[in-house]
Amino acid sequence: MGGGEQKYIQEAFETNWIAPLGPHVDGFEKDLEVYIGSDIHVAALSTGTAALHLGLLLLGVRAGDEVLCQSFTFSASANPILYLGAIPVFIDSETETWNLCPLALEAAIIDRIALGKKPKAIIAVHLYGVPYQITAIRAIADHYGIPILEDSAEALGSSYQGQKCGSFGDIGVLSFNGNKIITTSGGGALLTRSKATKDRAVFFSTQSRDAAAHYEHSEIGYNYRISNICAGIGRGQMEILDAHVDLRRKMHDFYVALFAVIPGITVFEVPHADYYANYWLTAITIDASVSNISCEELRLAFLDENIESRPLWKPMHLQPLFECYPYYGGNVAETLFETGLCLPSGSNIHEEDRRRIASVVVKVFEKVRV
Ligand SMILES: *Cc1c(COP(=O)(O)O)cnc(C)c1O
Repeated sequence: MGGGEQKYIQEAFETNWIAPLGPHVDGFEKDLEVYIGSDIHVAALSTGTAALHLGLLLLGVRAGDEVLCQSFTFSASANPILYLGAIPVFIDSETETWNLCPLALEAAIIDRIALGKKPKAIIAVHLYGVPYQITAIRAIADHYGIPILEDSAEALGSSYQGQKCGSFGDIGVLSFNGNKIITTSGGGALLTRSKATKDRAVFFSTQSRDAAAHYEHSEIGYNYRISNICAGIGRGQMEILDAHVDLRRKMHDFYVALFAVIPGITVFEVPHADYYANYWLTAITIDASVSNISCEELRLAFLDENIESRPLWKPMHLQPLFECYPYYGGNVAETLFETGLCLPSGSNIHEEDRRRIASVVVKVFEKVRV
């Protein structure tokens, strides 16, 4: 927390706006619209997962439809496909951004169309805050006339050619879960260039109440709106978002310097200057044949010192829940999962913590070198 949040919560209590509507909801949406730019309209919701669910619904996905989805991601990207009774088709990553591989994506589209099942949407993810190959993915989507649902849950503050992530999809999604770059304890947002789509999202998220004095419903409703309290926290968090991005990027710089002298370890970085990452998490990959140590051994060495690190996302097509669905690509995502590690990256890591992290790394790599 930055300090400004309590002022907004206090205001919500004083004005008795303790509901999934109120001035902070409108204010938080406005703050996000100003921050993202590109004439985006924002609907603030209860979670990023809810935003993905409504996003698919608004893109016209219905039971039995197929949806293309990046395999290398968190399960929340893919679960909403199943909520709708639709069918996920998983796509491999490429090695530059670790996100959706344009070649595998196009191969999948061509094959699904040949099978008579043109996919209804593409779920593309900016994993660990690194933008996907925006230009290539957009070109394929437009060529085949398939809309993009942009999962920007990890990428608030990232941008490509100066344009903010969240504004590249036909619909974009943000998350303010407790582990993200800013948090409302739980929250999310749906982003769109169309005011009408935003209004539909708000309609669905507040139980789909038709215009009438009584409660009249002609469509399925959801209880997905953010509360005025959480939105108040969000407004406070927006005041420190850029500072958080700065801290995460400094943490990334720290790891680049730390591992520069250690052969076999690569810190995950953007491919070139068009990409700007919030580095929500810093991740490394380890070539064990060079470093003489596996990522699991490094993880355990950190754990011995009470420092948490974690394997990269396990690809969806390898998950028991999803392994029965089609998959297109090679073994890029699988190799990343086998050789990668997420390192402590929080906005609240201090100099002393960095010294502890560095001392584990130095100790471990001195040992394997003898
Ligand atoms: C966190 C996350 C989500 C889900 O957001 P919630 O707000 O936790 O529901 C979706 N996709 C990705 C890639 C995420 O990291």
